[in-house]
Amino acid sequence: MRRLKTSFLFALLYLLVVIRPVSADESALRIVTSFTILEDLVRELGGEHVSVVNLVPRNSDAHMYRPKPSDSVAISNADLVVFNGLGFEGWIDRLIKDTRKEDKQLVASTGVSILTNGQEIDPHAWQSFGNIRIYVQNISGKLISLNPLYADNLEARKDEYLEKINQLEHQLQSKIANTPIDKRIIVTSHDAFGYLGRELDIKFLAPIVLSLDAEASALDVASVIDRIRELHITGLFIENISNTRLLKIIAAETDATIGGRLYSDALSETDGPAATYLEMMRHNIGSLIRAFGAHQTD
Ligand SMILES: [Zn+2]
Repeated sequence: MRRLKTSFLFALLYLLVVIRPVSADESALRIVTSFTILEDLVRELGGEHVSVVNLVPRNSDAHMYRPKPSDSVAISNADLVVFNGLGFEGWIDRLIKDTRKEDKQLVASTGVSILTNGQEIDPHAWQSFGNIRIYVQNISGKLISLNPLYADNLEARKDEYLEKINQLEHQLQSKIANTPIDKRIIVTSHDAFGYLGRELDIKFLAPIVLSLDAEASALDVASVIDRIRELHITGLFIENISNTRLLKIIAAETDATIGGRLYSDALSETDGPAATYLEMMRHNIGSLIRAFGAHQTD
């Protein structure tokens, strides 16, 4: 009887220790991301090796976000906190400090080619294929260093994702090449596309400078209206995170029409047109190219 019991115990131990050494869930890195674009990148690059809690939801504005108590709890439990940096998430330093996670943070934008707008750094560096490759390298490198057992798989995921970026960029670059550079002018409600503009030679005029917490003055709006008339601009775009009041005023005062919605600082809902980073880039740039097309046939 005693022997039976012992062998039963051994069998149980065997089951616990040998058969299930570490299940995917147990070995998955617990990662907190600050906003949806990073959440998507971490999920793409980490696959089953990560479990992600994201803070600022889809279609929401990270500039103005107010952290919830549950955010501190998530960060306390995290193996890694990934955020954009460049002053985008002004609220996150405090959270990381309070939870003593300074040694568990990754600034995803480290090493990107920065744009400034006056005195300020433009934080929207992810709106560029060149920069997002650096985000991908930073995130993937960190995941591999934290989980070297799965390095091969994580490397393969990274290569596959970089290949998708290359294909999409190539496809969109050859489409936009049909529009002469001096016709690539767009008006948006929030100046979040400086990096995209630099990469694709598109000029973005925005009535609000850089951050949503600044209100556009009547003078700013008037000068944008003048320029739209002067340059015969037909493409006005609203963004998923900002209000449409200003652009509607501008559209009413000019010949331009609102050409659709661009996604700048957050992904759309999962059934929307910008559910992932790559879909966001495809949707945004595709919409801009269509607006240029409207211009050309005028
Ligand atoms: Zn923004």
